[in-house]
Amino acid sequence: MASVNIDAQVAAAKLEVSTEGYFPAPIKGEFYQKHLISAEQLTSLGELDELFKVAAVMEDIVKGHRRVNLLAGQTAVVNFAQPSSRTFASHVSAALNLGMKVVAMQGADAMSSFAKGEGIDDALVAFYQTTGCSVLVQRHPEDNSALIAAEAADKYYSEKLSVINGGSGKAEHPTQALLDLRTIHKFLGGQWENLQDFELTCSGDPKNSRTIKSLCSLLAMVNRSLRERGVEANIKINLVAPKETRLSSTEEGRTLIDSWKSSPDGSPNLVVNEYAEFDDDLFTQTDVLYHTRVQSEWFEDQDEFDSASSSFRLTRELMDRANALREQAGKKYIGVMHPLPRINEIERAVDGLPGSLYHNSQMPEGLYVRMALIALLRVPPGELRFWMRRMELTSPLKKLKDSLLRSAGRFL
Ligand code: ASP
Repeated sequence: MASVNIDAQVAAAKLEVSTEGYFPAPIKGEFYQKHLISAEQLTSLGELDELFKVAAVMEDIVKGHRRVNLLAGQTAVVNFAQPSSRTFASHVSAALNLGMKVVAMQGADAMSSFAKGEGIDDALVAFYQTTGCSVLVQRHPEDNSALIAAEAADKYYSEKLSVINGGSGKAEHPTQALLDLRTIHKFLGGQWENLQDFELTCSGDPKNSRTIKSLCSLLAMVNRSLRERGVEANIKINLVAPKETRLSSTEEGRTLIDSWKSSPDGSPNLVVNEYAEFDDDLFTQTDVLYHTRVQSEWFEDQDEFDSASSSFRLTRELMDRANALREQAGKKYIGVMHPLPRINEIERAVDGLPGSLYHNSQMPEGLYVRMALIALLRVPPGELRFWMRRMELTSPLKKLKDSLLRSAGRFL
């Protein structure tokens, strides 16, 4: 029997589709029937306000254990060709919470026709034809994988199918950026103006981390939009990494940093600085520390990985010291975030600190924000507004709060 070179077939299938010049429609105030592939599709604070408003209703629904059927009759396919726990579970849960049917595939790199060499565009056609899905959430190791899927969806199914990028190679993870931003927004008191002098320090693996890249792109937009609103915003991003994982060590990384530092019209935007290690000044200035694991899957040289991954560990001792420095400067304790999974770069003793946001804030936000996103992409705006109003009026949590306030009022 002739032997078949599967790797060559897989490579050929990947090359057959090109995304040159393609970029999905920007949100520009209207999520309905679009894709979410890149954080750069978001163009204004108004869009974030809308998403966060819907997320607040979703939060109330989840916390009140309410059943809703907003998207009953529609199907979501969740197709993941790279490992995932949170992004996978929260998208499946989000779709089910909205009343959708869900077809979910983990390990698609080995267990779906990807393993036989099928291209991303053909896989999308297969999912649409076999399930009639209106949402496809995809994770894939290629940087341009989500672009390929969105381009195919536009070509074959126009507005009937929204693609959500659940992580594409080292490039983007826009839903993580949204949940991270809502976490930061809440941590700072729920007002955009509080981000005026916000300082974010991203550490660990800025070179390979798609979550750092998408979050910083979103923050660059926030800084620009705040200025457009007349707020003198000066958000600062500090990237702390050993030489092996420095973002500016690649051409793409340098281009990305430049795009955050300036606006499309060439005017300066936020400030980005790179550091090789933490120091006291950095801790004093940092409002939120976004730590990441050094991503072994992208390293070819074991020694390089060992050297990079042994560089930083957030210990309880270090965080206590950082918080003492913040207190001396009259500032709130540091928020500690991590997209997870954690390997050993955050000591478990850090988990209980009030600023540690990765378990109790980021993870539940992932569910609320993804429910909101799916609703915004698939429910006509007028219908969604009407539904939200109804949900707010009939919220058991709100009723409970109102009645507690009324009884408290009687005793005042
Ligand atoms: N879960 C995140 C991602 O998929 C971060 C990580 O894997 O370290 O990019």
